[in-house]
Amino acid sequence: MELNVTGMDAAVVGGDIRAAGQVSALLAGGARVTVVAAELTASLEDLAHRGLLAWLRDPGPHDLTAYDLVLRVRPTATDHEPGARTGSVTLVGGGPGDPGLLTVAGRAAIESADVIVTDRLAPIAALGWARPGVQVVDVAKIPGGRSTSQDEINRLLVEHATSGRHVVRLKGGDSFVFGRGGEELLACHDAGIRTRVVPGVTSAIAAPALAGIPVTHRGLTQGFTVVSGHVPPGHPESTLDYAALARSGSTLVVLMGVRTLGAICAALTSAGLDPATPAAVVADGALPSQQVVRATLDTIDAAATAVGIGAPAVAVIGSVVDIPGLDGPDQEELA
Ligand code: SAH
Repeated sequence: MELNVTGMDAAVVGGDIRAAGQVSALLAGGARVTVVAAELTASLEDLAHRGLLAWLRDPGPHDLTAYDLVLRVRPTATDHEPGARTGSVTLVGGGPGDPGLLTVAGRAAIESADVIVTDRLAPIAALGWARPGVQVVDVAKIPGGRSTSQDEINRLLVEHATSGRHVVRLKGGDSFVFGRGGEELLACHDAGIRTRVVPGVTSAIAAPALAGIPVTHRGLTQGFTVVSGHVPPGHPESTLDYAALARSGSTLVVLMGVRTLGAICAALTSAGLDPATPAAVVADGALPSQQVVRATLDTIDAAATAVGIGAPAVAVIGSVVDIPGLDGPDQEELA
């Protein structure tokens, strides 16, 4: 319900652009408005010049209780730099691919962005929510087909925000799950940029869920472990203890593991995990091309290869893959 302010004497404490928003709403509602602020943003100054509001630079001994309504609008950083706009970077986790799985906060950030820096696995359809004049930078590819380096992406985020733009960094899934969001946040902090994080629905949980596989299930599994299969077991860059994973009793979720799945399953088997453990691969989760393959630890790689599974795909290993009576959900569309 809207407050009826017709004929009220309202005081707005604060003179920035957000205060201006409140002032214009009050004026539109028929209130008499006094703005209490040392400085006014241009649009408020304009209203003051036109006699549409009263401007009190300093309330001094003035008693604000004389007003019917007092609104205090906290100053934003821009108040200290008249004329300059402070940019920001918002890391938005875009979910696994269907825009319906992007959060409400993520959508709001996209709608108000000046620049959107997006990449391959981000839900591109969500760009349709952006303002008409938005600048979209696709860092998945640069001419020549190479991918943009992380340093270059960090530099882009900082550069756009420093020139006063609101930048959304749109990623697939959650920015902090193999999304290099931490590095981007650090780069922005180092440059003194205002940053915000909007968590996303990670494919580690969503892709199995969309195939009807709960990563935990009462009585079956008390946890799940998400690992990267980017490098295979035994690789000099691998830091994972596959023997510990085999013993963990938790559901294993492997991201970026299409090419290495065979080696990962072999490492788990030789560390003692039962080769008959149920396993599944979910490719293109949440996309119209979603594909699900179910097999066991010792057959999943061959089964996935046989139907030509490609990235992006998530592998799930554990008894949750084969819960009697639980098949894929019935939903056809998410949003
Ligand atoms: N930040 C992302 C993961 C980035 S790593 C997230 O939280 O989901 C990229 C890997 O994510 C892919 O190799 C694949 O394993 C997985 N992935 C991303 N989107 C997917 C999707 N729609 N379906 C299945 N797997 C997906």
